[in-house]
Amino acid sequence: MGDCTTGESGDSTDLEHIRRQSAPFLADSPLRIQRPLDLERTLTNATAIAPFLEQNMRVYRALDTAERSVVVEFTEQFCANTEFFIAPSLSYGFQIAWCVGANAALVGAAQQTNYFESVEWVYLCDEEDLDVAGDALGYSTVRLDAHACLDESRHLIPGQNLIVHEFAHILDHLLTIVGNHDELSLSFERALDRLEDGVEDPLLTGWYEDLRTTTEANELEFFAYTSEAFFTAPNALRQLYPELTDLYIGIYGLDMPTRLQKL
Ligand SMILES: [Zn+2]
Repeated sequence: MGDCTTGESGDSTDLEHIRRQSAPFLADSPLRIQRPLDLERTLTNATAIAPFLEQNMRVYRALDTAERSVVVEFTEQFCANTEFFIAPSLSYGFQIAWCVGANAALVGAAQQTNYFESVEWVYLCDEEDLDVAGDALGYSTVRLDAHACLDESRHLIPGQNLIVHEFAHILDHLLTIVGNHDELSLSFERALDRLEDGVEDPLLTGWYEDLRTTTEANELEFFAYTSEAFFTAPNALRQLYPELTDLYIGIYGLDMPTRLQKL
């Protein structure tokens, strides 16, 4: 994955865009054929969340007992408050919702997101449904390539976790992180300087691709992509951007360099 867009918030045009995209089954939505995921079953089977995550979420296995409990509780609450829709071409079971909720928990559990209650709709898409891997429209709607969600949850792929990326955008919408932390802004400037010097860090491949397709340097995307790196290759991120990594330990409330120190 690596490619994505984010809805901007703040003006009425974008809010209308969000509303249009958010309402399920509107006639002009390419996603109208999606079927609702059977959330009843995600809720009535909640005791199976932890075993599912042990099998299907690599980061979960690296967390300590207390952190795991937080992730499981977040997952349960998130699924209880969010409508999921899934492309009819996909055969994933209802547990895919847990995969989304648990990876969103990495991003939102340490902050006052109230289990990301602003997110009302999650669309799980097939590869060709979107021209990007995923996007976050404002803070109410997320669309995700379901294959990437599960694959990047099961395996640690350095710099790649689509769910983390999109929920980092939502967290930023809620808390206005970008522009308010020197550690982030200075790291962003340094990354641009390095790029100017011809140095491309392998962890940020997706960000460079974004830069090439847009006209302006984008700190919002830098935040989302480095957040992906924080949860997939935190020690490599720390070598490049130590202050940024420490900032993320605070924002996300998880010491990922220690949790994943052997990687
Ligand atoms: Zn993005």
